[in-house]
Amino acid sequence: MTWLFILLMLFGTGCLVTSLSFLRSILAMLGEGPLRQRWQWLYRLALLFTVGYPIFAVIHIGLATTGADIFVGSMLALMGLAGLLIARLSAMTTKDLVRIASLERDVMRDPLTGLLNRRYLDSRLDEEIQRARRSGLPLSLLMIDLDHFKHINDSYGHIVGDQVLRHVSALVLNMVRVSDMVVRYGGEEFLVIALDSALEDATHLGDRLLHHLRNYEVPLPNGQPLKVTASIGAASLHDDESQISFLRRADVALYEAKGQGRDRLCIAESEPIPGLA
Ligand code: GH3
Ligand code: MG
Ligand code: MG
Repeated sequence: MTWLFILLMLFGTGCLVTSLSFLRSILAMLGEGPLRQRWQWLYRLALLFTVGYPIFAVIHIGLATTGADIFVGSMLALMGLAGLLIARLSAMTTKDLVRIASLERDVMRDPLTGLLNRRYLDSRLDEEIQRARRSGLPLSLLMIDLDHFKHINDSYGHIVGDQVLRHVSALVLNMVRVSDMVVRYGGEEFLVIALDSALEDATHLGDRLLHHLRNYEVPLPNGQPLKVTASIGAASLHDDESQISFLRRADVALYEAKGQGRDRLCIAESEPIPGLA
């Protein structure tokens, strides 16, 4: 009977030791935060059990082993096995969730700049328009287009052009609020969706962006600094206006800014475009 008890306790301990490695792999996949802290507590608990099993077995070996002890040993062995299966399944689930989250990130992000992409904008902007309508809060957008970007590509090459796009993206991202969305709308075109912002606030943001860009020098690989400017069209959502009309008004304002000589911001017509409203 004693050997059976020892065997059961060894099995239970082995299961718990193996479960620890699965729990460690879960901890490695989780970023810092309250969820990770909870898993850390669970890991400590599993560690305590892993140490407790052999201690319990050693204490028990000298005593007479009865049928009831074998029953307790069997239960402990099964608990160890259950712990192992739960840890293994949790590790597999966490791995899958992390993979899905990373795929989702890839689907909605532009690979060059890391900004949100146009696919994401198409689904999200409509949601934000509905939300603004329900809450009665304003919603504004800035359509930004880099000036003479083709010339930068032609003069310095596409790799430098890409570098400029990344620098400008980081600059824009640094200047907006956390709640604002920055989207790479086209090649050298960006959109800032300023949530809960009136036209005046968005215009101030746009002016500050232009000012920073004017004073900013993109470092080139040869050490030479490069100046970049942009033109901006700003628009605020009109009551009952469609997404197409909202974007179109900002686009028209942007081309007005280009027409007026670039490196400036133009405000869109306040009325929705007939036929697109
Ligand atoms: P404008 O001031 O009128 O906006 O002139 P522009 O030269 O900026 O505009 P245009 O539309 O003529 O040229 C845009 C250029 O942006 C052409 C294209 O090669 C370049 N471009 C688009 N996407 C990328 C990209 O991902 N990387 C690089 N390096 N260039 C890009
Ligand atoms: Mg363009
Ligand atoms: Mg351009």
